[in-house]
Amino acid sequence: MSQPTSFRTEFTIENFFRKLKEEGSLSAARCEKCNFKMIPPRPICSRCLSCDLEWVRVPARGKIVSFSEVHVSSENFQRLLPYVVCIASFGDDLKIPGILKEVKNVKVGSEVEIEIQPDKKPEYVFALSSADRV
Ligand SMILES: [Zn+2]
Repeated sequence: MSQPTSFRTEFTIENFFRKLKEEGSLSAARCEKCNFKMIPPRPICSRCLSCDLEWVRVPARGKIVSFSEVHVSSENFQRLLPYVVCIASFGDDLKIPGILKEVKNVKVGSEVEIEIQPDKKPEYVFALSSADRV
């Protein structure tokens, strides 16, 4: 019985955060067979089960797809209250959840930039692009 030869365990959440710190950007696992992108990364494509993956850098700018203002939170994020969590799309095929730096003037379709803050929690936040900031 043949063993999978290309199974690589590097596509883990630990390596996602290691790359965030080392490269100062977010990376997704991209399936080389079907082009599906995954954050958090997984060692097997969740669409076609291929193990042929590569790291790709997430574009620096995205657009808000949905958001919600949070007034009640777990202990970890109480110091941020109230805050906005949103899902932002980066290109056609990647949607990422995150905390937004701003609370006011948030709209669906607003452009956001990823800000990496490797020594804080959360390790990345979204910030409204200057054109969308009032
Ligand atoms: Zn795939």
